[in-house]
Amino acid sequence: MPVPSRHILLGRLAGPRAFFYGSFIIALVMAALCAIVLYQSRQDALERARETSRNVALIAQRDIERNFELYALSLQAVVEGLDQPEVMALPPHLRAQVLFDRAASARYLGSMLVLDASGNIIIDSASDTPRKGNFADRPYFTVQRDHPDTGLYVSDPYHSRLRGGAPSIALSRRLSHLDGSFAGVVMIAVNLEYFHELFAGLSLGPRGAISLIGHNGIMIMRQPYDPAVIGRDISKASTFRQFLTAPEGSFSDTSTIDGVRRLYFFRNFPHLPLIIMVAEAEPDVYAAWRRRAMTIGSLMGAFASGFVALSFLLGSQLRRRMRAESELQMLARTDSLTGLNNRRTLGEILDQEWRRAKRMRSVFSLLFVDIDRFKAYNDTYGHQAGDDALAAVARCIGENIRRPADTAARYGGEEFIVVLPDTPPDGAIVIAEKIRSAISELGIEHAASEYGRVTASIGSASWSPDHDADVTTIIKAADEALYDAKATGRNRVASCRP
Ligand code: GH3
Ligand code: MG
Ligand code: MG
Repeated sequence: MPVPSRHILLGRLAGPRAFFYGSFIIALVMAALCAIVLYQSRQDALERARETSRNVALIAQRDIERNFELYALSLQAVVEGLDQPEVMALPPHLRAQVLFDRAASARYLGSMLVLDASGNIIIDSASDTPRKGNFADRPYFTVQRDHPDTGLYVSDPYHSRLRGGAPSIALSRRLSHLDGSFAGVVMIAVNLEYFHELFAGLSLGPRGAISLIGHNGIMIMRQPYDPAVIGRDISKASTFRQFLTAPEGSFSDTSTIDGVRRLYFFRNFPHLPLIIMVAEAEPDVYAAWRRRAMTIGSLMGAFASGFVALSFLLGSQLRRRMRAESELQMLARTDSLTGLNNRRTLGEILDQEWRRAKRMRSVFSLLFVDIDRFKAYNDTYGHQAGDDALAAVARCIGENIRRPADTAARYGGEEFIVVLPDTPPDGAIVIAEKIRSAISELGIEHAASEYGRVTASIGSASWSPDHDADVTTIIKAADEALYDAKATGRNRVASCRP
């Protein structure tokens, strides 16, 4: 029986497969590393956007605070001036110069007015004879009248009645009589154009937004500018609710105004009832990152799949080569005519089994099979028929040894050797007899034989651990037994007991 080298073959072929899986894992690891790097650079983009928003918010906040501080000081100056009878005794144009400092002529300042307890204008920064007007309905008036402790009041946006409906907000302070009763208000109207121009000068990407919102949720100014949004109450919006949770912070949300998802940064003014909010659109935040990710990702994908494809090619080439090598090796171990182990392999097997038998102290048997009158067969039927008969006999021998450890080999010419490890003499004779009768039963015609068919003679020899011998001695003994079988009439089994 040929050495079962199939499992050796498969074992060797696991190499290319491992090679392929290995490269696949390397490609996966590379892809994972690439993903980590891209994720980190995405986080960096987010962090940079947050920093930018924070800086923009701070710049806007400082500008607004500085201006409001000036307005508050101007209001304070009027309150103090009105308390001094000498100032009130001055002619109107001088009085205006004393009461309203240069702030009153600032670019975005609408007007500065002093209103009496009924809301009528009594002093007007814009003209020596006060314009006609009553503002008793305005919150900057009513709040100061009804809540003496208000201090500086910042109003919601409104349309000015004195300046042709210009959108404005007002800052007001209460005027009180000596007994503390309400004497009117002094107010400053700030044109919303101020915030509009301030925000327009800040760059926030194509879909960025910046808003100034009152603590009560009323929108004072928003960039991109839309007059319809000014004065809108956004106190119910989820974004606005988050603005009230901390002095400053950032989060991502979808705008209720235009539905764009943005990264919000907000800051509550520490001394004014105002919130500044700066928001960059997420698509803008990630635009550069996305371009880079697409480039790196597709390069990486192409590289990884090229790598896998290449290693697949290399792997299959390696597999083909190893298969060819294994086949060559198998060919080198087997006899081409009979498919049995060849003489060289027999030498290895004998050596190995002999040492094992000695180590295990087990009985070891060997059969020497020789076809009878085979020269005559060739002479009668020709060499080709002789080859066919040889192959048939070899197959027959192989089929009649069943244990995995039993092996058969072509020793040379029409002679075969069967190695039977761990088999006592009686067992060896049984197998030999089985082989002999099976060959005879093949019924291959052999006119020149005394049996009329192809037969074989078998010599059997055994070695037991009690006897000192080597492997050549036992081959010799089996050969001698074979000689006995030939001499005593052929087509028989003879044994040589140690
Ligand atoms: P015996 O019964 O004594 O064994 O007689 P025999 O003729 O079989 O023995 P001998 O050793 O005289 O002849 C062996 C013959 O086997 C010689 C050769 O013609 C034949 N033979 C050996 N190898 C091959 C082979 O590969 N193919 C063929 N067709 N014949 C072979
Ligand atoms: Mg012979
Ligand atoms: Mg012979």
